[in-house]
Amino acid sequence: MKKKISILYIIFLISLIIFYNNQLINRVDANNKKESVNLLVINSYHQGHYWESFVIEGLEKKLKENSNFDVNIKIEYLDFRNRNDEAYQKSFKEMLENKYPKGSIDILCSVNDEAYNFIKDNTVEESSVFYNLPTIFCGVDKKSEAVEDEIHINLNDTYNLIQLILELIPKVENLNLIVEDSGYGSAVFEEVVKFINYYSNQNIDITYIKGDYIEEIISQLIGQNYIPNSVNIVAGEFQYKESGIFLKPEDTIKFIQEYNSSPIFSNDQTYLKAGIVGGCVDTGQEHGEQAADLIIKIINKEDILDTYANSNVITKSYIDYKGLYKYGIDPTRVDNDMIVFNKKIYEPMWSEGTKKVALSILAIILLSIFIMVKRVIKIKRKYSMEQQLQKRKEDRENLKSDFIVNLSHELRTPINIIVNTTKVIKIKLREDRVDKESIEEKLDIINNNSYRLLKISNNIIDITNSESGLFKLVEKNENIVSVVEEAFISSLEFSKLKNIEMIFDTSDEEIITGIDKIQMQRVMLNLLSNAIKYTNKGGSILVTVKELSDEVEIIVKDNGIGIPESKINEIFHRFYQVDYSINRVNEGSGIGLCIVKDIVEYHNGRIVVNSKVGKGSEFKIYLPIKILNIDIELNSDFSYDISTIARVEMSDVNK
Ligand code: ADP
Repeated sequence: MKKKISILYIIFLISLIIFYNNQLINRVDANNKKESVNLLVINSYHQGHYWESFVIEGLEKKLKENSNFDVNIKIEYLDFRNRNDEAYQKSFKEMLENKYPKGSIDILCSVNDEAYNFIKDNTVEESSVFYNLPTIFCGVDKKSEAVEDEIHINLNDTYNLIQLILELIPKVENLNLIVEDSGYGSAVFEEVVKFINYYSNQNIDITYIKGDYIEEIISQLIGQNYIPNSVNIVAGEFQYKESGIFLKPEDTIKFIQEYNSSPIFSNDQTYLKAGIVGGCVDTGQEHGEQAADLIIKIINKEDILDTYANSNVITKSYIDYKGLYKYGIDPTRVDNDMIVFNKKIYEPMWSEGTKKVALSILAIILLSIFIMVKRVIKIKRKYSMEQQLQKRKEDRENLKSDFIVNLSHELRTPINIIVNTTKVIKIKLREDRVDKESIEEKLDIINNNSYRLLKISNNIIDITNSESGLFKLVEKNENIVSVVEEAFISSLEFSKLKNIEMIFDTSDEEIITGIDKIQMQRVMLNLLSNAIKYTNKGGSILVTVKELSDEVEIIVKDNGIGIPESKINEIFHRFYQVDYSINRVNEGSGIGLCIVKDIVEYHNGRIVVNSKVGKGSEFKIYLPIKILNIDIELNSDFSYDISTIARVEMSDVNK
């Protein structure tokens, strides 16, 4: 196979030796008036061989870019690894001469040593159809009398490869040279031997592992004793013995790795990124492009000596980042001009030790940041909690003072009424203007306002008891439907005052559950008194009772003024009233719903509210249905009947 930088120099020398003259036939296409030139490329290998394919790729690309003339590229494969004896070469020559009669080919090009030898041996006679044709040679590895090694040493990929290996692995003791059995293979071997001596004064053994078949290579690897500090160099392509199929480059590398654990390097582009640790590679494409440049110059009848002087294909070193760590190679030995692949942008070229130290430092920094962030969050949380508590405290204080203002107003109104009414009665008695009807009316006023005072004081007592945990339920199995209905009926006389339509609806006549009847009646009356209070004259209130699977649902729904969305969650708070203004329409202390919620929750139930301003409100109570085993005797200090409770709870409904 292939190349060597030196080949380009050979190309030119040979081109000059064989020379090109004015024999170029000017074929002009009748349509586009472009000159067309026929180029015959003879490839030493078969179609699909990697490096040679890269050469053709570069050649075609460069020639296509040149729009002044068309170059018809014809490729013939010598396929020397199949057969390469004299008889075969003779028949190959005959085939070419029959296929391409004199004058049909303008320029010859060979890729690799075997094709170079073929052209050199078969075109020198005048009788040859290819006699005197300008000829370009690519990828010739075998030394030629035309090559001055010393001149080209710095451009040589094998030299650079040895340099690379010794830079990365300075203690190397053995080189396994795994090469195909070809001119290319033996050229690499010769160069390795030469450059090892030239470059290093170390005692490095070279083991020559040669073969066309992978099986031959494996058997030589198996036969080898373990050698420490060994490096493998692979070059050329290998076949399976039985099928003759060529291995994919990755498969060749896998086989070698299976039988030898040393790092693999190569100067063969075929193996780049196929699993090797690194290599020095001059690409086939670049060789092809330089050959194309020469062809163009030949067609243009330019002096190619200048090109010869300037020609060089740059060898580049490639390193697999992951391979470095796999084989314990110190990444700091990698030079800046080496191309590192398989490396993420954030991955550093640090030694394993440095990496560990850096990772530990990074971990400590991250941990410190984490701890600091946690602390800051904790402090912030504490601060915001303190702020919240402070705000709550302030809100509570505000609510309390609002409550006191409101409460004194609440107390003052009935007290004033009682005092004034009493005065009126007294005056009437003194003046002997006693009229039974008016006295009764005045006494009713005093009575009602006394109930208002009683409601306020009851609420204050209940809320204080509830806060200090003294509030106790006296539960009994009751028909909740009739409890709700009784409260509903006793509210009717108050709803009439505002001409409000009252509807009671139930799915069941009887739902028995353990409740504190008096407290539940207070709950109902409280909700009903609110509904009446906050529903305009002529409105309507609907009360429903319904048995659900394991609970009872009680709804008090009105079409009154409604509650703003932002206030809905507040109305159950102690002392809270949506409207604190002095001119507010309804009386009330803002404690009722707080007690309602407490009582419902003491029954293990819950209360939900839906409301829309201007549309009305809906209070839903859910109580678990539970049957008590022992009926507890009613043991209440106050033995009100429902109408008394109603009078108390409804005492603040205005006419
Ligand atoms: P109050 O004694 O002031 O009525 P509550 O605790 O019973 O106190 O109610 C708290 C506040 O909730 C009331 O001031 C009122 O603004 C609002 N509210 C309660 N029920 C209704 C309702 N059915 N419609 C509109 N607003 C209501």
